[in-house]
Amino acid sequence: MEEHNNRRTCLLVLMPFVSLGWRNITPEQIKQEALQVTKDFRVPEIELCVNNTSLEHLTKNTIRHRVNTKPTWETQVVGNVTVCGDASHPMTPNLGQGGCMAMEDAIILARKLHQALKSKESQNSNLLQSDHIHQALLDFHQERYKRTYALTQRAAMIGARWETESAIQSFFRDWVFLPLGVHMGNFMEHTLFDVGKLPIEEPRIT
Ligand SMILES: Cc1cc2nc3c(=O)[nH]c(=O)nc-3n(C[C@H](O)[C@H](O)[C@H](O)COP(=O)(O)OP(=O)(O)OC[C@H]3O[C@@H](n4cnc5c(N)ncnc54)[C@H](O)[C@@H]3O)c2cc1C
Repeated sequence: MEEHNNRRTCLLVLMPFVSLGWRNITPEQIKQEALQVTKDFRVPEIELCVNNTSLEHLTKNTIRHRVNTKPTWETQVVGNVTVCGDASHPMTPNLGQGGCMAMEDAIILARKLHQALKSKESQNSNLLQSDHIHQALLDFHQERYKRTYALTQRAAMIGARWETESAIQSFFRDWVFLPLGVHMGNFMEHTLFDVGKLPIEEPRIT
């Protein structure tokens, strides 16, 4: 049911921007479109890459936004197993933050596990080590949820509002709305996030 609701929301967000008929496109048309879209990038490797890819490996898909309506830590931890990065919080590419958030996840997860296994409290506690790990994974998702939810939503909203194939809308976006109406600082404050340090123990000098 929840998955169904998520799909509906995703369709509502992206429907106006999906060009109908993309499913019927042939591999040769995909190739031509890829070459056409990237020709102004002036990166010869891209053309080479597209030309050297066999037709059966060329695919075209729409980008979908998944709304994590339920706090992720409730569904993404099973025993001592969890997911992180894109598997936990996929996002549309509009903020260029997916890779950054995957690396943040890695650091925070390492810190939580280190705390669970090495801290004095955990070592003196009666709980099993696996219970500490399970709790660390829940804490990890609880800590990450606020940031990952906000950024995945923001990326989808920016994509839905700014992406257009209409020349008139593109003109207003690029020459009126963005230069005059948008203060980029408002959209970039997420890049100031400080993830903190890895729990690396000082090497012992003997
Ligand atoms: C075109 C594009 C541009 C992007 N630009 C940016 C950007 O500018 N800045 C930014 O921060 N992010 C960017 N991203 C997003 C970023 O690439 C991803 O968010 C990031 O790679 C996610 O890392 P991950 O480790 O979670 O997943 P992935 O990098 O997808 O790694 C998952 C790995 O698991 C492997 N795997 C899958 N299934 C299995 C299996 N069953 N068994 C074993 N292995 C398996 C896959 O082969 C893959 O190597 C971009 C993404 C794309 C597609």
